[in-house]
Amino acid sequence: RWHAGRVTSPQVPQRPAVQSLPAYVPGARADLGRAHKLSSNENPFPPLPSVRDAVARAAGALNRYPDMFATELVEALAAKHHVEAGSIVAGCGSVAVLGHVLQGFCDAGDEVVHAWRSFEAYPILVQLQGAVSVPVPLTVDGRHDLPAMAAAVTERTRVMLVCSPNNPTGPAIGHAELLELLAAVPERVLVVLDEAYVEFVRSEDPIDSEQVLAAHPNVVVLRTFSKAYGLAALRVGYAVTHPDLARAVRTASTPFGVNHLAQVAAMASLEAEGELAERVEAVVAERERVAERLRAQGWGLPESQANFVWLPTADRTVDLASAAARQGVLVRPFAGEGMRISIGEAAANDRVLELTRAWGGA
Ligand code: PMP
Repeated sequence: RWHAGRVTSPQVPQRPAVQSLPAYVPGARADLGRAHKLSSNENPFPPLPSVRDAVARAAGALNRYPDMFATELVEALAAKHHVEAGSIVAGCGSVAVLGHVLQGFCDAGDEVVHAWRSFEAYPILVQLQGAVSVPVPLTVDGRHDLPAMAAAVTERTRVMLVCSPNNPTGPAIGHAELLELLAAVPERVLVVLDEAYVEFVRSEDPIDSEQVLAAHPNVVVLRTFSKAYGLAALRVGYAVTHPDLARAVRTASTPFGVNHLAQVAAMASLEAEGELAERVEAVVAERERVAERLRAQGWGLPESQANFVWLPTADRTVDLASAAARQGVLVRPFAGEGMRISIGEAAANDRVLELTRAWGGA
């Protein structure tokens, strides 16, 4: 067997921007027979039988390349969002689509403004592109500080990333505040609205992304099949934007980025939207129950509009997350800050509530 220790060290210079980056940390993997995996904001329900059957039938064609532009899926998504097909770009998860957006619009040294803490892939993707990440702290209640984000825009700003609901804290941005932000940001700045968890939003003033896109040609909306649609393993996400901007994202995209099984499963899921919506309702109901119980236990929580809650465990985070793992509950710790706990099935959520009661509120 070949191994690196037997050969001389490579003399190939590495990009400093890459060497200094932390690796993306996925949620802990689990022996699903034994542990409650609440570390990756997945859908706790297994695939619908109709989706599983469609994937099984499609497995007969694996020797062929998929449709490079996922034409059928793109057309179905265009119909769903009331846009032309040229406005949609699909990719290998919305994280890959975001990478292609940054490749399409950022040169070395360009600035990308985003909230922090937010989705941890943001600064990594930005720096991989040679661009400069400009993090803007969240407010104390875990929300995007939109006036501060607008104020962070400079001549070098090319992109602003807006995450609603915000991963990992949970609050959603309102439609009116988003419009205020868009009015304050120059139209030359591309505003990416990452709506990975949008299906779980039940707020009073939800963002109407169709209206936003129609009025603001500098906006890109990102959506995913990984959360509400339950297809995390197959990796499908997409962007919706003005066709001129979509062309740039498509040009930067990995060829054949959405594999055949993913295309078929996503199509079958769109056909089963009613059934999937019932599952989303069940998760939302559990989120409300968990949040209410946690508050009753004395925890101060940001208002989650997603399929997870943020527990402010501060300095105790790593110890408590390890203790939870030993007891079969996997969460996503952010050392010194808090932990993100996905909403699972009722039994898993009950286990969480037992643990948090024992830990005492904060
Ligand atoms: N955006 C946000 C805010 C997320 O939390 C995630 C998943 N953790 C993604 C994008 C990426 O999702 P995917 O690549 O599975 O579509």
